[in-house]
Amino acid sequence: MSFRSKHFRFFIVLFLAITAIVSAQSDAKPKNIIFLIGDGMGVAHVTAAKIVKGSLDMERCKVMGMHMTAAANNPVTDSAAAGTALASGFRTNNDVVGLCPDGKPLKNLMEYAQETGRATGVAVTVILTHATPAAFYAHHKARYHYDIIADQMLNSRLDVMIGGGWDNFYPKTFTRSRRKDDRNLVLEQRRKMPVVTSYEALMQASRIRQITAILDGGHLPHASKRTYTLGNLTDKAISLLNQNEKGFVLMVEGSQIDLAAHANDMQRVLDETLDFDTAVKSALDFAEADGNTLVVITADHETGGLSFPYNSIEGNKIVAAKFSSDNHTAEMVPVFAFGPGAEKFGGIYDNTHVGKTLIELVKKDDEPCN
Ligand SMILES: [Zn+2]
Repeated sequence: MSFRSKHFRFFIVLFLAITAIVSAQSDAKPKNIIFLIGDGMGVAHVTAAKIVKGSLDMERCKVMGMHMTAAANNPVTDSAAAGTALASGFRTNNDVVGLCPDGKPLKNLMEYAQETGRATGVAVTVILTHATPAAFYAHHKARYHYDIIADQMLNSRLDVMIGGGWDNFYPKTFTRSRRKDDRNLVLEQRRKMPVVTSYEALMQASRIRQITAILDGGHLPHASKRTYTLGNLTDKAISLLNQNEKGFVLMVEGSQIDLAAHANDMQRVLDETLDFDTAVKSALDFAEADGNTLVVITADHETGGLSFPYNSIEGNKIVAAKFSSDNHTAEMVPVFAFGPGAEKFGGIYDNTHVGKTLIELVKKDDEPCN
């Protein structure tokens, strides 16, 4: 064999080895997924948090993408259609949760994960029946039918549910109840798993794998008025779910970034975005130590049309933020990813890519024969 052909062979072998390593990396499937959604969190909301704080935990992710947030029937989405795209990989109409525009049910990320024996959970700062969490367990044509969605939450196979909204679970005879019937869903749920109604009781819960924690009648207090962070809730959810030896999928929502932006309240947008970043820290700290956890951070849509024109920033203070809207906009939103499979989230794509890719990473391998 000539010197040249030896070299040629060497490079072929090297090329094949590198190709194998690269494809092994891109085929890597994580055991756990932590999916964090900042509701309404556009690039400007992240920019604001960075101006004020200097650096964010989101920046620890080295893979970034952007996604187009449209609904099936409107370029400007609501949280129901956006949540459905992120949870199922398919676009639907505004107001619809977990169904195609024609009413056919869409299987979501949690349902795929449950088929593989993984534990599943949600942790949010709004009522648990709100559109984003509902997209991960419910299938209903109208996002504001909270009685029906609460019932679907109880019948879902989620192991950990943390958020607010007991007004939708207690019977109509209770003060503040928003139910139209006499069902007490808290009692019904207690037959299935522990139910707690305070942060302290949630923190004390141990030696259990399942919990429903409804920490307020409505949404949880604003980030600045809470004695705990979304990061604290995320830590607790992870510690409960991680007892499952087959892995887990957790969805965490910084739900009130959206509410703050609807109100055009810049200080509150900052508070809520920084609170969301505490959950990002919890997720990334766990993922770094674990080594087999994918963390994906994104938004469902932008809210407020937020921008910072010339002279609106002084040092690390935002003195004259501009909101062009009190509603959602069609702007692309950022995606940050870390861990096995993260590279699949680089680039620009539709919101459906996020859901489809997460599902591809958790679903059972296709059986070649029956
Ligand atoms: Zn909104």
